[in-house]
Amino acid sequence: MNCEKIIKLISDYIDKQIEETEKEIFEEHIKICKKCESILNTIEKTLFLSKSIYRNKKIPQKVEKSLYYQIKKIKIRYKK
Ligand SMILES: [Zn+2]
Repeated sequence: MNCEKIIKLISDYIDKQIEETEKEIFEEHIKICKKCESILNTIEKTLFLSKSIYRNKKIPQKVEKSLYYQIKKIKIRYKK
C-alpha cells in the first residue's frame, strides 16, 4: 500500500472504522514510514487535545468541522 492510500485511511483508523485486514496493513506501514507516522501523530494529537478540552461533553459541530478541516489540511500538506 502506498502513502496516499494510507493517508486516506487515517481518519477511518482513528474513528476505528477500519477493516481488520486494512488495519494490519496500515499499522505495518506506519512502522516503516516516518512520513505517515508523523501525520498520524499530528492528527491524533489534534484530536486528543480537543477531546480533552471537551471531555465527556459532545464536541460542538463548529469545532468538529474545523477539526476535520485541519485534518484535511494536514493530509493535503503531506500528499506530495
Ligand atoms: Zn507512508
